Amino acid sequence: MYRAKAYSAASATSPLAATTIARRDLGEQDVQIEILFCGICHSDLHTVRNEWSSMMPAVYPCVPGHEIVGRVTEVGSAVTKFKPGDLAAVGCMVDSDGTCPECQAGLEQFCPNMTLTYNSPDVHLGGITYGGYSESIVVKEHFVLRVPSNLDLAGAASLLCAGITTYSPMRHWGVTKGKKVGVVGLGGLGHMAVKFAHALGAHVVVFTTSPNKKEDAILLGADEVVISRNADEMKKHAGSFDFILDAVSADHDINAYIQLLRRDGNITLVGAPPKPLAVSALALLFRRRSLSGSLIGAIAETQEMLDFCGRHNITADVEIIPVQKVNEAYERLLKSDVKYRFSIDMASLKSI
Ligand code: NAP
Ligand code: ZN
Repeated sequence: MYRAKAYSAASATSPLAATTIARRDLGEQDVQIEILFCGICHSDLHTVRNEWSSMMPAVYPCVPGHEIVGRVTEVGSAVTKFKPGDLAAVGCMVDSDGTCPECQAGLEQFCPNMTLTYNSPDVHLGGITYGGYSESIVVKEHFVLRVPSNLDLAGAASLLCAGITTYSPMRHWGVTKGKKVGVVGLGGLGHMAVKFAHALGAHVVVFTTSPNKKEDAILLGADEVVISRNADEMKKHAGSFDFILDAVSADHDINAYIQLLRRDGNITLVGAPPKPLAVSALALLFRRRSLSGSLIGAIAETQEMLDFCGRHNITADVEIIPVQKVNEAYERLLKSDVKYRFSIDMASLKSI
């Protein structure tokens, strides 16, 4: 065991502050990574403030962060894919049982015994796992991803959650050329969804509550932008979408979007507002529409997504901040005031 510098929250109402945490010594299948950048996901905020207390209560101190990019510092004796000096990335999961039907199907994210990067029981050290707002992390090789060398690292970090969470449902629901695709909420996830849907050849419509994001949406790859608070603008798209990805972090009227789906159209929720949403059965019955959810993505699919990003030179648009600004960043996230992801430069932790 060794100590690593980190940023943690002591309770649901405390700001994050500097601390040190325990990391395990390298096991034979482990990779130790010096963290260079860690993205800030809205899930970090939901967790730190215990907003998901009914399904996933937070345990404190909480060190969030699951959009990790860094450099390998040491590898265990059984590690074959990585060597010291390599770029490496870690997303939302650091372990799973490897034996259940979900793991056998290569869908580790649905394993009932999956270990999240933070706020999951830690079988090695006891207590809970600690995430990427830290100077280093030790992770089992299977859960460590390779980063294409052409990608900007600060922006590549957010591919590990915002990227895979939007890429996976688009692949699952067959987003391709000729499909009309909606993206609701132009935040961290939403802006990645626009980039992917555009790269996959779809006609992309962004729904935003922020009129000041209209021009950006087009630059990111949208073909049309709808200000979702404008009912007339919404009506023009009734019954026309093949697929809509809802990436909104707060309570909102999902029925307004269900109405925009064509026959057999699907709306997938990736946003995880703490309060349950009210769904109109009638809106779903007509045109046999469906509503589903999607959770991050499997390890193999995450690597596929990273390689896709390497080929298409896709990364998140980031505002790089020092770790000392993380509390301010959370407040701005709540105001939808980030273009479009905060990425923490972990070098800032060295001065603490
Ligand atoms: P974010 O950067 O804060 O973006 C959320 C966006 O939602 C905002 O930019 C805003 O877009 C829109 N929005 C916010 N409040 C709204 C309201 N009251 N009404 C309508 N729209 C509103 O958050 P994020 O990091 O992208 O995460 C989004 C959600 O996905 C969070 O709930 C997060 O926990 C969840 N998540 C899920 C997974 C998964 O595996 N399914 C993975 C990661 C994150 P506009 O300004 O364009 O309106
Ligand atoms: Zn996330």
